[in-house]
Amino acid sequence: MTSSPDPRTYDLDALRERVVDDRRGEVDDSIPQLAEADPALCAIALALPDGDVRSTAQARDAFSVQSAVKPFLFALALLDTDGAALERVGIEPTGESFDAITLESGTGRPPNPMVNAGALLTASLVDGDDPEARSARIARGLAAFAGRDLDVDDDVAHAEHLLGDRNHALAHLMRAEGTLDATADDAVAVYARACATLVDAETLAVMGATLAFGGVNPRTGQRVVPEGVARDVVSVMATCGVYDGSGRWMRAVGIPAKSSVSGAIVLSAPGRLGAAVVSPPLDAQGTSVRGRLVSEALSDDLALHAFAS
Ligand code: GLU
Repeated sequence: MTSSPDPRTYDLDALRERVVDDRRGEVDDSIPQLAEADPALCAIALALPDGDVRSTAQARDAFSVQSAVKPFLFALALLDTDGAALERVGIEPTGESFDAITLESGTGRPPNPMVNAGALLTASLVDGDDPEARSARIARGLAAFAGRDLDVDDDVAHAEHLLGDRNHALAHLMRAEGTLDATADDAVAVYARACATLVDAETLAVMGATLAFGGVNPRTGQRVVPEGVARDVVSVMATCGVYDGSGRWMRAVGIPAKSSVSGAIVLSAPGRLGAAVVSPPLDAQGTSVRGRLVSEALSDDLALHAFAS
């Protein structure tokens, strides 16, 4: 049996060079701040078991985390509700886009925590008596995953709260079904603020690694969530993390991941490493074009596919 190549010596700069000239895809324009993203941005980072972080150029450039926050919102909701969040949100893939106006038939629950309906719900389940307290709780939780405090881009949070019509619609629908306790406006405000959290590729890789290593941040050594919570979250990333592209993603990449409209992808390869790629141009499923190429290459070159023998 041949041993896997070593992520410690793997040439990340060469991988970046292989994809950086690919100009396919469109930058998201749902809010002005995202539309202004640099289409040339391309950064890769790996977070390894000993807490070492390896990265390329631009891996400390800040961007709003957007939907790459959803696994961590799910984790915090599971933690703060002692697992009861699993009764409030489904865990089945939808085969639909991230903001589809669909709830689970029969229950009126959001279909899974990786689409917008689910993340609006999980963000509303974290500890806190009001939206400010819940946002503060989320900020503390994300900081523990990241191993450092994270800023929020207030303009992005404001724009998403104001312009997120489909998120308001989903929140109202869940209110009507009796599956969301918070007011619709409060739920959107907390979710929008979580999406507006600023990260960089290195930080996001550490966050992914914390899930990959059973809930322990490899950089700080802190246990952030119990092992069972990390396993639940990574399982749902594997089945639902890339929206209506999740099946193709698992076949081609085979690493549990979450995509986002900012062009970031966070990856958690259990027991092996955490990784992040950011590059804003997106394909039709809202997945970063270069991010997908990088993820496929990491999977092949470092033997990270979950189902490869
Ligand atoms: N904040 C975005 C929204 O709610 C996130 C979507 C995504 O990143 O896929 O529309």
